[in-house]
Amino acid sequence: MSRARASDLLDRLDRDAAAFSGELSREHYLNGAGLKDDLQTGPIFERYGWMFEREVVDKLQKTRPRDERYHALREFVVEAFIEDGARALTERIAERETADTIEWDGKSVPQRSIAPLIANESNPERRRALDSARMDLVRAQNPLREERWEILHARARDIGYPTYFDLWDDVSRLRLHELKATAERFLWDTEESYRERLEAYLRGSGIPPARAERCDLSFLFRAPQYDSLFPAAKLQSTLVETLTGLGIDIESQENVHLDTEARPRKSPRAFCSAIDVPGEVMLVINPQGGQDDFRALLHEAGHTEHFAHVPDDLPYAFRGLGDNSVTEGFAFLIEHTMKNPRWLESVMGLPDADEFLRFTNFNQLYLVRRYCAKLLYEAQLHCGDNPRASSKLYADLLTTHVGVRYTPVDYLSDLDDGFYAARYLRAWIFEAQVRRTLEDRHGIEWFRSAEAGADIKSWWSFGQRYTAEGLLQRVGHAELDVESLRRSLVPS
Ligand SMILES: [Zn+2]
Repeated sequence: MSRARASDLLDRLDRDAAAFSGELSREHYLNGAGLKDDLQTGPIFERYGWMFEREVVDKLQKTRPRDERYHALREFVVEAFIEDGARALTERIAERETADTIEWDGKSVPQRSIAPLIANESNPERRRALDSARMDLVRAQNPLREERWEILHARARDIGYPTYFDLWDDVSRLRLHELKATAERFLWDTEESYRERLEAYLRGSGIPPARAERCDLSFLFRAPQYDSLFPAAKLQSTLVETLTGLGIDIESQENVHLDTEARPRKSPRAFCSAIDVPGEVMLVINPQGGQDDFRALLHEAGHTEHFAHVPDDLPYAFRGLGDNSVTEGFAFLIEHTMKNPRWLESVMGLPDADEFLRFTNFNQLYLVRRYCAKLLYEAQLHCGDNPRASSKLYADLLTTHVGVRYTPVDYLSDLDDGFYAARYLRAWIFEAQVRRTLEDRHGIEWFRSAEAGADIKSWWSFGQRYTAEGLLQRVGHAELDVESLRRSLVPS
């Protein structure tokens, strides 16, 4: 393909990827906001089907033009091509997850409502019984998930990669081999400190550490003891105040739609839908209260403002595609204002935040270790060609590094496509470095400095044109370096 024709193809892809993603986001918004019962994605995929054809994948794999949009557009096309092969199964699994129920206390409970029940169940025996009922559902669905992963792996081989891992290592810019080594080192370096804290928190919750299971941690991190400090009634004003500190008036932003209306079928969890970047970004709120609800809202607000501050004349490859470690990183940056003692004091009115800070640091250390273990597991799962052989590996790695018992049953349900776990890990590393820069430049109270806000907006204005590494260089760091993260979680 000639250079002119290659750039012609990239132009068409850039335009249609924007339209496709916009329609898909609108559908997800309407469904999640409780404005529409079903999720009609089939017709959207059909309308833009030309982008996911084998011919387009082959053209992009062969030409490799020196166009800055190329990497993001190729990743988008290859991912969509791989997923398209299993779309019917993906839909069947989602239907089962929506329709399957368990019997509990004489009532029928949908599968998706089990996790909140577990997190709120203070009796360990009942927690285990609930979790065991959940596992029965997952086990019965697993043949569908196994079939789905066989198709995804086969598609990767079909377009010329030895394994699904090799595909992602080539197509994404996640530097998976390096990240795996970083994850191994991080697990090693934080092991002792994590174990000590885990045991203390488990004992504090009346759970013998040797008998602890994954469902016990759901209860531990639900942390109802902090509910009164984070009331639902204060959720929206906290958001407004936090963003105002950075010079952002969310209520007057014309491109940001704050959906606060109560609707019966609205998702209980805050979410962001970027229908048009930056023209139409929805932030959907359904205040429940509690520290986890505040965290979720601030996280989604980080995505919202990141998208809302991207200039509209950039190609879609930079506005809406690219390395999601970056948008996740900025989401964590706003979320982690909750880890700032001055923010807790001035915005939330917590006079003595030490105990909560210790808890929230431990919570993040747990999450990062869990994702390190998930990455190590996924690297092995996706290097083989038989997903079914990996259930014990999943349970072993997660149990070892998280320190509570995991069941092999969840080996495919606790798993995102396309190494999303790697993006979260890179985002945590990125965020710790960006936060350190903000503290160095603007002090610990950077969250209420318009100058800090101006810095952040200047980084947002790149969208995802650069990878996390590329953007960090513009922030003033040589590379993605786990040291800031480690130091923020394990004080020496
Ligand atoms: Zn996110």
